[in-house]
Amino acid sequence: MGDNGSTKIWLNGELVGTDEARISVFDHAVLYGDGCFEGIRAYGGRVFKLASHLDRMYASAKKLRLTPPFPKDEIDRAIRTTLSANGLTDAYIRLVFTRGVGTLGLHPFRCPKPTAFVITDSIELYPPELYENGMDVIVARQRRIPIESLDPSIKSLNYLNNILAKIEAIDADVLEAIMLNVDGQVSECTGDNIFLVSDGVVITPPACAGILHGVTRRFVMEELAPALGHAVEERSLTVDDVLGADEVFLTGTAAEIIGVKRIDGHAIGCGAVGPVTRALTAEFRRRVSSNAPED
Ligand code: PMP
Repeated sequence: MGDNGSTKIWLNGELVGTDEARISVFDHAVLYGDGCFEGIRAYGGRVFKLASHLDRMYASAKKLRLTPPFPKDEIDRAIRTTLSANGLTDAYIRLVFTRGVGTLGLHPFRCPKPTAFVITDSIELYPPELYENGMDVIVARQRRIPIESLDPSIKSLNYLNNILAKIEAIDADVLEAIMLNVDGQVSECTGDNIFLVSDGVVITPPACAGILHGVTRRFVMEELAPALGHAVEERSLTVDDVLGADEVFLTGTAAEIIGVKRIDGHAIGCGAVGPVTRALTAEFRRRVSSNAPED
């Protein structure tokens, strides 16, 4: 990250410089990817959907039987303190709980003290041109880990399944990859949820397809699409459904809403960002830049 030496990180209750923001090589987050995290955004000084992110964070921790080192209200304050210490109003926020320091064995309950940290940064994931013209994606060969093996609603620190698919994307010279589940149905992308638009209906795979319950996905389903008069459906989708859609778009905290123009080189719709995606993006922008109170 662009650290000029003055960036502050919140680590276990204190603001420290990046050089002091360290965790042990014996932390099970390092040894085993044992922990959970959230990616959150602030727009104009308001933290977007913080309650939803904290709910998901604490739900992830609970499923990992990791006792959160701080209560929600303290993490809420930590996020705001870190933003203001870094003079940021529009920012990407990373909240992490690690299992903490333990022995070399897997045993998670021999790590007595979990660690919490908050990083704030000003990032833009994709170049503006991609929002205007749409992005190219591939369908990864790497399948999503089955939900029977790892609950995808846990936003864990172990992202290797997604990283292997991301490497396929990078090798194909694109920035995202659609992941299928082991039954061959469309699940999600490596760091984004996926939607298609067919005859004006906004459709996305259901939880049982093996997805993270995206905060942006829910925003689209429950607020943006209904406000624009679009019906929303959760439905199992095949690659053919996606290839034959009028529009395809991805959602995520970092990516926001981004249209897909080609999948594996096949044009989606007319090969540009479609009107429903544009309208949803405009509504998204309007809402996050309004002065409405945080929700
Ligand atoms: N799926 C995966 C695998 C993700 O990592 C993310 C977020 N980075 C998403 C979907 C989108 O979720 P959200 O809208 O809550 O950021």
